[in-house]
Amino acid sequence: MTPALAVANPRPPQALSLRAALPSRPRLALVDPLLRRNRILQALTDEAWARMAPQLQLIECPTGTILEEPGVPSPYTYFPADAVVSLLCVTHDGAASEVARVGPEGMIGISPILGGPATSNRAVVQTGGHAFRARADGIRAEFESGGCMQRLLLRYTQSLLTQMAQTAVCNRRHSLHQQLCRYLLTSIDRAVSNTLAITHERIAAMLGVRREGVTECAGQLQRLGAIHCSRGHIAVLDRTVLEANACECYGVLRGESHHLQAAV
Ligand SMILES: [Zn+2]
Repeated sequence: MTPALAVANPRPPQALSLRAALPSRPRLALVDPLLRRNRILQALTDEAWARMAPQLQLIECPTGTILEEPGVPSPYTYFPADAVVSLLCVTHDGAASEVARVGPEGMIGISPILGGPATSNRAVVQTGGHAFRARADGIRAEFESGGCMQRLLLRYTQSLLTQMAQTAVCNRRHSLHQQLCRYLLTSIDRAVSNTLAITHERIAAMLGVRREGVTECAGQLQRLGAIHCSRGHIAVLDRTVLEANACECYGVLRGESHHLQAAV
């Protein structure tokens, strides 16, 4: 158990004992649909895959699981399959706001791969699901070999920087109404369904605003027919309304996502 998980996560991610099934792609009937969801793993060459597969473990990631804490070196990197993870910037008074989100397009734990001692963000599972876990030193060795893993992770890092910059300007310059539309759209884009298991309170925490403001904006979007809110869930009924009410940031993020997909 890592220190980060011991401190903040009473139930660490559970390995699903599928490691023995991983080395050969044709034998992946059970995990193959999940592997295909993570674009970095899916884009590995056969040679890189042969080196990486024995290092991967499929793990459960329940909502709320903390994968990384700022300043605490993590021995693992994570490649989300159907889980979505928020990267949070945490202040000294304990407040935390989302600076980026990582779904099946990316990975968590890039800092030590690029030479940093530890991440500066908290990584919390926002939408429960599964991820593939590998030891950071193994990923770093593959990265330093200069092959496709290096190209994929550098490209993903560029995408992550774009997302962080856009989130920063959005939080400062755009209305809560626009931010909520952007948040819901980027959530749905990574989700496996149009219904998000998330409360107004949690969205408010991610955006760094008061819960009442999120509830008011969600009510407006519900009256427009864009969403339906029920206890602990938000169903997106008409994303075109969200797109029409979102700020330019969503377009930038979606464009970057398309560029990333094309590159990997
Ligand atoms: Zn914005």
